[in-house]
Order: sequence, then structure tokens, then C-alpha cells
Amino acid sequence: MQITSVKNKSILTRTTGYLKKVSSHSLNPYSGCGFGNSSCGQGCYVRFNEWINRGRKWGSFVDVKTNAAELYSKTVAREKNWAYNQSKPFSVFMSSSTDPWQPAEIKYRITRNLLLAMKISPPDELILQTHSSAILDDIKLIHELSLICKLRVHISIEGDQDRLPGQPLPPSSVEDRIRALKEFSSRGIFSVCCLSPLYPLNDPEHFFNKLKSTGVAAVIIDHFILGDGTSDGSRTQKTSLPTIMKKIKPESIHLPYRDKVIEIARKYLPVGISAAGFAGNFS
Ligand code: SF4
Repeated sequence: MQITSVKNKSILTRTTGYLKKVSSHSLNPYSGCGFGNSSCGQGCYVRFNEWINRGRKWGSFVDVKTNAAELYSKTVAREKNWAYNQSKPFSVFMSSSTDPWQPAEIKYRITRNLLLAMKISPPDELILQTHSSAILDDIKLIHELSLICKLRVHISIEGDQDRLPGQPLPPSSVEDRIRALKEFSSRGIFSVCCLSPLYPLNDPEHFFNKLKSTGVAAVIIDHFILGDGTSDGSRTQKTSLPTIMKKIKPESIHLPYRDKVIEIARKYLPVGISAAGFAGNFS
């Protein structure tokens, strides 16, 4: 893994495309992802994003944005005004193309410093999205932030198995991520489990019942078709994920499988679907 410290020119990105429905801004404390070679990295939506990769292999590099917190503090007022001029709340999605609690965070604490900067100048809404139970390292700070802005913790758990046959290990086990959801929910923090992208499930009734018992507010169900920012899932079709899913449950690579899972999930919890779910719409 090549880890490079970089100084960026900006940190709050005005959203476009798919993300425009979710938040006014995205914020990526790192570029690249230390989980790129784990199970989620295989079907990762940004795996083939040349803008980020610039010729480097996904999972082989992480750029650490060492001036992220400083940039946030310098530009927050301007970006908040920009959002208001668009008649939107100033909402931040962290993160869209990296994981804020990836291994490098233990050493560099870029995410933690950003959260500290947000405590001084909070956004109106903050969505924290991760695959890692290491988010628990910042639970106290996240709780404090939840008292001064509208905050949601999104933890990705694609399915009820740690990994699908043929996949490497996940960033954190399913059990650890469920435990993290429980910890956040028990502190009154709005917590959401994201099945994104939805994997074939072994026992959906048992899984959603278990999620309900953690106290989560909702689940998001996001199939790679429509969910990866393309209407036909073509970004994910370039990865090995559809082949792996097809081997286990051929129906799982088509949208009617998602709809079947949504129907089961709704017996237990409010459900958000793809971008609408990431934007906080649940029914
Ligand atoms: S944690 Fe997120 S950004 Fe990182 S490899 Fe997994 S899916 Fe991609």
C-alpha cells in the first residue's frame, strides 16, 4: 500500500449526479481506500474511477489529505452560503469515494480532526458512511455532533455473511458492524444499516429481525443496478461482483430480487431505496 501525504486545494465538493439527491456536498478525507483489497473493494463503485486513481490500482494507494480540517474551516462559510443560494440545507456526505475509518485513520486522524472542526462550524446535516466498526473510536465526538446538527450514521453491511465465496475478508465482520449499530442506536444516534450493494442473503427474515433488535432506525437497500450511479449497473458489471453473486443466487443480479428483499425488510424496519434512502427517505 502506497501511502502519500497530500495537501489539497479544496475539501468540500459540491455534489453532482447521483449524490446531488443525497447532500449538497461530499467530503472525502482520503483519496483511494485502504479497504480496496477487502470484500467491499471488489465491487467498489469507485474502483475504475480514473479521476481518483490516475493510473494507480484500486487498493494499492491512499492519499492522506493532511490539510482537510484546515480547508473545511476556511471554506465552510462560503460553501454553506452556496448551498443556501441553491435553496438547500448545507449537508455533508462523508464519504462517497473512500472510507473515513480505514486503517490509515488510526495513524493520521484526518476524519477525527474534521469532526472536531465541524464541532466549531457544524453543517446542517451530516451523513457518516463507513464499512468499519472502527467508527466506534469516535463515538463520543459523533454523539456530541449529533446534538448540534442533524446526523445519521450509515454502516454498510451488504448481506448476512462475512464474505461471499471467493471474496477476501471484509473490513469488519458482520457481527462487529452490527455491534457498532447497536452502540450508536443505544446513544440515541440515528443509525442506518446499508445493504449496499445488496448481496444474496441466506436468511433475510432472521437478518432483518436481528437488525431490528439493534435499535437501528432504518435500512437502505441498494442494488448495484441503479445504485452504482448508472441506470444499468454498468460500473459494477466491470467488476467480479455480479459473477460471484450469480453463482450463489442467479436471481440476485436482477432488480426483482431487490424488490423481494425490500418486501421482507419492511416487515421489520422502515426501508430506504438507493439514492432516496441515502438522502434519508424511509417508508
Ligand atoms: S470501504 Fe467503501 S470506498 Fe473503500 S473499498 Fe470498500 S466500498 Fe470502496
